[in-house]
Amino acid sequence: MMQGRDCTKKPVESEEQALFGVGASPGIVTARAQVFKRRTSRAAWRRLPPEMVEREVCRFQEAVTEAEQELQKLRVTFADDLSDALSIIDSHILMLKDRMILGRTIEIIRQESINAEWALAKALGRVKKKFETIADPYIKQRFSDVKYVADRIFGLLSGREDDVLTDISEKVIVIGHDFSPEDTLHMQAKNILGFITEEGGVTSHTAIVARSLGIPAVVGLENITCLCASGDEIILDGFSGRVYLNPTPVQLRQYREYDKLHQSFSEELSLYIHLASETPDGHRVRLAGNIEMTDEVQAVLRYGAEGIGLFRSEFDFFSRELLPDEETLTRTYSELVRTLAPQPVTIRTLDIGGDKFSNRLPHNGIRLDLERNPALGLRSIRYSLRDPTLFTMQLRALLRASVHGNLRILLPMISSSSEVRCAKGMVRQIMNKLDQEEIPFDPEVSIGIMIEVPSAVILADILADEVDFFSIGTNDLIQYSLAIDRGNQYVAHMYEPFHPAVLRMIKQTVAAGHRRGIEVSMCGEMAGDVVSAPVLFGLGLDELSMRPSAIPHVRRILRCSEHRQLTELGRAVLGCSDGGEVRNFLTRYLPENYPQEFCCS
Ligand code: PEP
Ligand code: MG
Repeated sequence: MMQGRDCTKKPVESEEQALFGVGASPGIVTARAQVFKRRTSRAAWRRLPPEMVEREVCRFQEAVTEAEQELQKLRVTFADDLSDALSIIDSHILMLKDRMILGRTIEIIRQESINAEWALAKALGRVKKKFETIADPYIKQRFSDVKYVADRIFGLLSGREDDVLTDISEKVIVIGHDFSPEDTLHMQAKNILGFITEEGGVTSHTAIVARSLGIPAVVGLENITCLCASGDEIILDGFSGRVYLNPTPVQLRQYREYDKLHQSFSEELSLYIHLASETPDGHRVRLAGNIEMTDEVQAVLRYGAEGIGLFRSEFDFFSRELLPDEETLTRTYSELVRTLAPQPVTIRTLDIGGDKFSNRLPHNGIRLDLERNPALGLRSIRYSLRDPTLFTMQLRALLRASVHGNLRILLPMISSSSEVRCAKGMVRQIMNKLDQEEIPFDPEVSIGIMIEVPSAVILADILADEVDFFSIGTNDLIQYSLAIDRGNQYVAHMYEPFHPAVLRMIKQTVAAGHRRGIEVSMCGEMAGDVVSAPVLFGLGLDELSMRPSAIPHVRRILRCSEHRQLTELGRAVLGCSDGGEVRNFLTRYLPENYPQEFCCS
């Protein structure tokens, strides 16, 4: 099998003892474990005499004020460049004052004449029930933030030491049911080398902070607090999510070598963060970043992305408890566009329906959750045109943000030119309205479409007349053209980016776009795969947009390719008759032509 030299190869021969969680923050550490058993913040129940009720409310309010002061103190302790972490602390400060905790607890103390700890636990129980009904995993994870905030107040009410990490002085890997983002912030100062939790996912705030501080982490490893004891030796692999308990000397040696290899490889690649994305003979391809949440913009900047090629705006939109309004969206988009200016920021309008956020939509007579075939249903632009309330609000916010830099609006899942005309008609109407309201916007703002449905490829020449750019979404294009559900493990082996039909569709789209003088980008996962990169350069794409950390490697591959050689490679793969043939060809071609980048195993 062919692979990039980025150590994605299984590092340890025997996986017998490996436990598998989710790699939430990259890096490898070997150290002793310090296990924190689950904190049972059980409140004792106390009935209050009527004259004590208001005093109890005051005691609760004082604890909330103290919690806020602690968080404010924490806020000033951390440097300005930890903006991800700071925004999380800010959100926790806001949560302290939110009705769901503050208001509800006070209400319960008064209505039931009970102590603050019990009332707080009860209020938290109700919030938990609400979160449990939410299907979307990202929103579901936000309950952990509410719990961190409640735990902090609880600790102050009961006089319990709140910081679970206070006693640590050695360099250890900490293991717990869950850690708060604030706990994670303290880890760096306490020399904690990494952490493993039973709960959480890659999008939890704890994971975000870990990534921004560079603390390796594995999350979602069930029962790890029972499987492991303090003092056990551990290998934590934050890349793959593997954890080894009491590893053998052979495993330790292999992991040390793997770690060294990885570190020197990352150092090598970091040289490419600030270099131009061009071949030695001057052919340029823009390498941009994909993001789901605005706080990922730090990574976009850190890895030298030349703009944002895809902001999946639906994640930001539905990450809040309440749907955002136009002002909130305008602020979010303006900030993003301003931060990246003059580089382009491509914001895709809501891609909802299918497997995403169906249950968060206002019903308005439409029940997406009942669709029999959601991937082929009222998804994405189809939903936006059928019920334009959210779409209109988002377009207004996007247009208002367009004056702050280089914004590109991207319409998802286009399958016919009438959809494009309809959406553009709405944009024109909104522009007229903004004009009347004397609200500034950029009348020349770029509007592009995702090419992710086979009919859009076939009609690419017609569609190219309607828009300013194309962005190929291979994740869906492969799903729809090969009839393979991208989320179904039984057909996952058939999901083949190098299928000749896919390669031809990419080429056809590029050709149609270039004939009409518009840029063609790719933002599907294929764009960030180092094995695909030379092929995609060879097929003539103008921009590849990917997870930001993949950019330096893809840039190095571009910088050691001749344009002519790439074009020949593009031609050669288009001549293959199936995906296996393409892969066999690349298995020979890549190590021969890029010995520094590719190896065989
Ligand atoms: C795609 O389909 O390739 C794409 C980038 O969009 P998403 O993965 O959000 O469907
Ligand atoms: Mg898609």
